[in-house]
Amino acid sequence: MALQQQVKRFIQGIGASPGIIIGKAYLVERFKVRLPQKRIDPGQVEGEVNRFLKAIQVSRDQLMEIKEKILDPEVRKHSFILDVHSMILNDEMLLQDTMDTIRKKKVNAEWALDLTLEKLDTAFKAIEDEYLRERRSDLHYVSERIYRNLLGKKHDDITKIKGKVIVVAHDLSPADTLQMSLKHVAGFVTDIGGRVSHTAILSRSLGIPAVLGLEVATSLINGGDLLIIDGETGEVVINPTEEVSQSFLERKRRTKWMDREILKYASLPAETRDGVRVRLQANIEMVEEISSAKMHGAEGIGLYRTEILYLNRKDLPTEEEHFQTYRRLAENIHPAAATIRTLDIGGDKFLSGYSKNNELNPALGLRAIRFSMKETDIFKTQLKGILRASAHGKLRILLPMISGIEEIRQAKAILEEVKKSLIKAKISFDREIEVGAMIEIPSASVTADLLAREVDFFSIGTNDLIQYALAVDRINEHVSYLYEPLHPAILRIIRGVVQSAHQIGIPVAICGEMAAEPAYALVLLGLGLDEFSMNPVSIPKVKKMFRTSRFEEARSLVEHLFQFSTASEIECFVKNWMAERFPEDVIETYPEGIKT
Ligand code: PEP
Ligand code: MG
Repeated sequence: MALQQQVKRFIQGIGASPGIIIGKAYLVERFKVRLPQKRIDPGQVEGEVNRFLKAIQVSRDQLMEIKEKILDPEVRKHSFILDVHSMILNDEMLLQDTMDTIRKKKVNAEWALDLTLEKLDTAFKAIEDEYLRERRSDLHYVSERIYRNLLGKKHDDITKIKGKVIVVAHDLSPADTLQMSLKHVAGFVTDIGGRVSHTAILSRSLGIPAVLGLEVATSLINGGDLLIIDGETGEVVINPTEEVSQSFLERKRRTKWMDREILKYASLPAETRDGVRVRLQANIEMVEEISSAKMHGAEGIGLYRTEILYLNRKDLPTEEEHFQTYRRLAENIHPAAATIRTLDIGGDKFLSGYSKNNELNPALGLRAIRFSMKETDIFKTQLKGILRASAHGKLRILLPMISGIEEIRQAKAILEEVKKSLIKAKISFDREIEVGAMIEIPSASVTADLLAREVDFFSIGTNDLIQYALAVDRINEHVSYLYEPLHPAILRIIRGVVQSAHQIGIPVAICGEMAAEPAYALVLLGLGLDEFSMNPVSIPKVKKMFRTSRFEEARSLVEHLFQFSTASEIECFVKNWMAERFPEDVIETYPEGIKT
């Protein structure tokens, strides 16, 4: 019994937005939808189709009403999510497939919709990219709304939260969070969701601590319980003892002090103690993230992922949509530059209306630049948008998944063609716009000396480079122990790429997750990288690492690493070196008596 109480008091989830908060739980009671499954007579079919279409229309109206009611300008910035939900409601596949099922299988609307969602869900689950895969949750939020409207159930009224509370829910849809009066929300706790879910993105950008993916939060927590949440470590304590509360408050004081100290580095140049200057930039996928990037001291956007523009829709983004998005990007980051990566999407899986291939091995299939070279019209439309936006600020173009020189030449020839058409139409753009290649495939790294002659810069994508070089699927937990950024092969590859680039005189950036880990960043600095791009929140700590180090010591650390023959020896050496050199940063002790 004692053990059970102890276990109940402490639960571990995913730290999705940093900050430690103590407060009362506000439980969002989720109505669990029980779907009636009924067979219908042929004479009832059209009535059922109409009932379905009516529920769709009511759902559309509700989303519109929620959007109109958002008054807080900070929250309003995120209301585009409601547009995404409206788009899902208009999705041809969702509507047509459900209506066809009602007609062909003679089943009620709830059952038919459920069958359609199963199909869509399977397609979403197969998506490799974590961010895109998470968009599956949008489909669920929308379907829950349709089900409720089909069944005539009321929606939770979460507009009337009082006081300052920690919102606890099975899941929160963007519509939920946008409806809340966020001044009453001290934190978020949910059963499902991860670091790239909407709740995570929203809470990070609003600075509200959040722990997600707890699985059992809504079963263990009651409304009114006292909670402590740590959005960094993912810990949640239910009804803590006085002693536990005190130790968390102490941690909070320490963290706050450390955050303040770290944030001081945000506005300082990324320069080592012996005067070597590098550029720290942010990886983002929405223009809305620029404020966070700037706040954390980003000197530009090193990777703007564009996949999000193509999602949750039945058509393709128009040139005008590309232009407007990239123009906002260019204007908001001005006078710094933004590097826009052209579409890096895997085969036909994510683009509705493009179902020409069913690949057995999509990671090695028709993705990224290969897709763009096949679907040149889609590529040209994006390039036109980028070029037009380049008249409004400094933009660079980055080509993903380059495996050899022909792809670069082919892509550049298409770019020239697009440029010519703009010149002919008298549309202004940056005629000197720089073009870079992602180095994330081993063949590109081995031929970096050749590729360097064709482009203005390299950007090493270690997320994929490690996957392809070590033959380790980046999302397969069974082989994750082999996914080693400090593997001797990876260090040798990066060193070779930097040398080749520098011989020709072009800079090398890194935009993989590896750059966000201060110890790895120092190794990368020693390897000679010129630019570092990472999630905005990690920028100050990497800056601090650089500003408190000497380039020469990073170089000699790296030289030492080349004497080792295994990843674990290297990892161990770096860890010890860091612990000796920066003892105060490495040791973050947990208050006693909390962990079970
Ligand atoms: C990478 O592969 O390191 C990268 C930055 O691209 P993505 O994670 O989008 O594949
Ligand atoms: Mg990649």
